Amino acid sequence: MSHVLHRSLTQSYPTAVRGEGVYLFDAEGKSYLDACGGAAVSCLGHSNQQVIQAIQQQVGTLAYAHSSFFTTEPMEALADFLAERSLESLDYVYFVSGGSEAVEAALKLARQYFVERGEPQRRHIIARRQSYHGNTLGALATGGNAWRRQQFQPLLIDISHVSPCYAYRDMHDGETENQYAERLAQELEAEINRLGADQVMAFIAEPVVGATMGAVPAVAGYFTRVREICDRHGILLICDEVMCGMGRTGSLFASVQEQIVPDMLCIAKGLGAGYQPIGATLVSHEIVDTLRAGSGFFQHGHTYIGHATACAAALAVQHYINEHKLLPQVVTLGDKLQQALVNALGDHPHVGDIRGKGLFRGIELVRDKTDKTPFDPALKVHAAIKRIAMDNGLMCYPMGGTLNGRDGDHILLAPPFIIQDQQIDELVDKLTRSINHVTSTL
Ligand code: PLP
Repeated sequence: MSHVLHRSLTQSYPTAVRGEGVYLFDAEGKSYLDACGGAAVSCLGHSNQQVIQAIQQQVGTLAYAHSSFFTTEPMEALADFLAERSLESLDYVYFVSGGSEAVEAALKLARQYFVERGEPQRRHIIARRQSYHGNTLGALATGGNAWRRQQFQPLLIDISHVSPCYAYRDMHDGETENQYAERLAQELEAEINRLGADQVMAFIAEPVVGATMGAVPAVAGYFTRVREICDRHGILLICDEVMCGMGRTGSLFASVQEQIVPDMLCIAKGLGAGYQPIGATLVSHEIVDTLRAGSGFFQHGHTYIGHATACAAALAVQHYINEHKLLPQVVTLGDKLQQALVNALGDHPHVGDIRGKGLFRGIELVRDKTDKTPFDPALKVHAAIKRIAMDNGLMCYPMGGTLNGRDGDHILLAPPFIIQDQQIDELVDKLTRSINHVTSTL
């Protein structure tokens, strides 16, 4: 009997014992092609020697020093690396241990910024339905996934949720992308006005929605309209790039492709590529300067912020990506993956949409392709696909509730940036077999 309180209390898990490139191996010697990087984490695969050596060297020199006593070389170097490459004004980096913590830090920083600016009445946060921002209480409240929030609702702070940008289902027939973006922009502005424009502190969104919808990018022009509206009302724009950032869509920051600069940007997952747990919130100098001129400190903190070994690992990951020019490769490999998915599954009667950017792809499953009717949620199609795919030696990230937290199924793919052409073929073959297996029994 395992004493671990696993995610599922009824399921048993194979024991992972080894990783090599894009594969994980269990104790029985079975291999699994990691087509989702766990949860869009392992962007360099599982045995990168440069990263392993950097970790070993850091542990051997200085594993950890508490950030209220010291700064460290790897923490400073990683902050320099990120600030130099980040969008214009995002000059400061607040290190944490994962995505939820990065979002919590952004929310608290937004609040403290307005208090110190002399606008303490600003307290409302607006997010989008069907978003995911993490599982700690503030981040969970912020996320708009009804199922994840439901039983915790009495504990959650009050957050407004507006529509996501979900062209496959929500763009009207005959509506252009521009008109759709404008309709959503007007909805956001109406919500701001309803709450009172001077009462709202932040709007938060994932540039490409990950876990809850399956790699859904916004239509062109949506985020520039959002930025304009936030600017007009003095509201901070927070981009949650925990899943879609750090190169996943082909640029280090996904916001770049939307031609916007947020006031804060949350990253994690691909930052440390799973070699160490690490996340960060990038913060504009305007926010930091306000705190510096005010209280002089950010009233927040965790024991492991700026962990030296985690920072050394993330720095090695990012240097490796840079030196090996992996980001342009993410774009070409992503196009290949998309094409291979369309070739294999485009005409499948139960595949409604194949979407995404770079090596961040989503497949939405439907009962009826013509009218986009989803499967009955009781069938748990996503769970069956995950199980059969594992039997077939493939890790993918299926999820249910794509439309509204209850209806809809999708499969998220986020393979390592080092995946090779024949491994893309293997991925698509195993995935197609798994989807066929499950849908043929329905
Ligand atoms: N934000 C987004 C967009 C995510 O996808 C996730 C995790 O999937 C999180 C936040 C939370 O990150 P973590 O699980 O590292 O706390």
